[in-house]
Amino acid sequence: MTKETLILTAVHGDEAFSIPIVEKLKSKFNFDSIVANPQALTENQRYLEADLNRSGPGNPDSKLLEERLAFRLIQTGSEYQQVIDIHGAESDCGIFIILGDPNWKNIELAKNLDIGKVVLWPGLLPTGPLCQFIPNSLEIQCGPKNSPQVAQDLEKVLNSFFEGETRQEPQQFFIVTGRLSGLDPKGFKDFEEASVDGIKFFPLFPGLYPGIACCMMQKLNNDLSF
Ligand SMILES: [Zn+2]
Repeated sequence: MTKETLILTAVHGDEAFSIPIVEKLKSKFNFDSIVANPQALTENQRYLEADLNRSGPGNPDSKLLEERLAFRLIQTGSEYQQVIDIHGAESDCGIFIILGDPNWKNIELAKNLDIGKVVLWPGLLPTGPLCQFIPNSLEIQCGPKNSPQVAQDLEKVLNSFFEGETRQEPQQFFIVTGRLSGLDPKGFKDFEEASVDGIKFFPLFPGLYPGIACCMMQKLNNDLSF
């Protein structure tokens, strides 16, 4: 029998903020949860040997802790009808969804969450985030991760998801189309339209990746066309 819902917390060990929220909801709703990288969590480090959220599909025999973890988590996650992987960012990006595998099932899953922004991020590499490899999964990204308001908003979103309430927020879809390098990330803010050399785009994660000013997104029409 397929199990219903799994929530992953602390895939990055310095993103513990969601653990108390998920624990609280467990007293009210029936779902499973896993603290994904407990060793990195103890150290309050993003990861110990490799970035777990870049280590899919993983390898059970790897020397690297996170590659072994990735393999196990993807196997476990695949037993569920839906998997939600919660992340936190330093920036003031609010709460949005990332689809590591933007197939129609995952898009439908995103529509069940009362979150306004949905980022389609097709994996182009053979290794990548856990949600690229777990069927029926998505990431919720929250920032700033230590804001009490963000924690409250996340709890509200998850609560209404488990209650099966109808979404209130209209949804806007974005797609990641490239990366911008060679510029100062300070000029860019998440989801605020920017223009470089006459090309308009929406920035994502400015300054997060070394050498990359930001990821570039385009906004999609409601029928998911450009
Ligand atoms: Zn993360």
